[in-house]
Amino acid sequence: MKAPSGSLRLRFSPARGRTPAAIAPVHAAAKPRGELRVGIPRVLNLWSTHQFWIGFLNALGIDGRHIEFSSDTSEEQAREFGKGRGTVDCCYPVKCISGHYGELVANRKRKIDILFSPMVYSLPSYLDGHVVASLTCPRVMAAPENIKAGFLKEKDVFAEHGIRYAAPLVSLADAPLVPKQLYEGLRDAIAGLTFEETKKATRAGFDALEAFNRAARARSRAILEQCARESKPALLVVARPYHMDPGIGHEIETDLQAYGYPVLWTQYLPTDADLLEWMFRPDIEAGHIQSGLDIADVWPSSYSANTNEILWGAKFAARMPWIACVVRLSSYECGMDQPTYSPVQQIVERSGTLFFSFQDLDSTKPAGSVKIRVETIAHYLQKYSAQIIAKKLAASPQLCPLIAHRE
Ligand code: SF4
Repeated sequence: MKAPSGSLRLRFSPARGRTPAAIAPVHAAAKPRGELRVGIPRVLNLWSTHQFWIGFLNALGIDGRHIEFSSDTSEEQAREFGKGRGTVDCCYPVKCISGHYGELVANRKRKIDILFSPMVYSLPSYLDGHVVASLTCPRVMAAPENIKAGFLKEKDVFAEHGIRYAAPLVSLADAPLVPKQLYEGLRDAIAGLTFEETKKATRAGFDALEAFNRAARARSRAILEQCARESKPALLVVARPYHMDPGIGHEIETDLQAYGYPVLWTQYLPTDADLLEWMFRPDIEAGHIQSGLDIADVWPSSYSANTNEILWGAKFAARMPWIACVVRLSSYECGMDQPTYSPVQQIVERSGTLFFSFQDLDSTKPAGSVKIRVETIAHYLQKYSAQIIAKKLAASPQLCPLIAHRE
């Protein structure tokens, strides 16, 4: 793999009268690990893999306080830091990355040495082994290269700020490949990096990610148990991980939560064997699927990690009595989501679960229409959730483990 472009490829602007000495950057690799400051754009699948990166960098000796994530996406961020850096026309979650890069580069108080923006090729997914593959969207894979171009147009902005740019291609769904990919992508940026320590740090990263995901799933299960105990409804957000970014998903689920409804996300649904057995046994016995995590009945082309989880989330919602409502979020210009709109809606609605969709979300929160729709959802939930829960429960197998758990 090609080595990442480095901050030492200096380009100077004679028009501004600078000399190489005046802007010579500190070579990131020359700094001791404990002093290195790493900037990571808080974008795309960083929203579901950040624990891996924190665990990985910590294990390499990089102080957690020196890992600098950019802020949540916002219009101000794009205006202040991303202006004039746009490259190709693209979906909003990719387009806004320019603002994140610009913000990290411009941070004078906590100046970064490395801008680390992994090109994530595939993702660890709870559906691994039950689907064809767990790839990311092609726009996600290519995003760092795409956005980098906007910072090299007239001059190398990274070099000018003494920042080394590192964007290794990483196959997170293929763990044995990861140490090699990260070693090759980082050895010029981190002094004295060895393959062996990269291997150990990769393991630490996966362990940290696994621990976080396990805790989040346990929390989701506890919420569902509480709903079952109290016969209360919960909502499920069916979206991509980066819709958790307030600037991408516009906090629609937070507005709903304010009405007192617990909100779960597809990425962190419980996948315990007893629950899956209870929910999916009839489908397995009918020969529609081979396991509770199989989506071949609704999505045979199961190549894309986030898309697969979206489809499985719809199936989960359809079978879980206390999920009375599904809220679907999707971004402007998302080509990956378009073919999933109908299947997701049909799976959910056929079970009698409420379904609301917010599509084409971009930089501006349509506050007025979101408010009206949130009020509508809350109204429907208040009026129909008891009925929906009763109907779904009547159609479910006996002895739900969420209830049996407390007995
Ligand atoms: S999945 Fe959609 S929103 Fe996400 S990067 Fe791909 S095209 Fe853009």
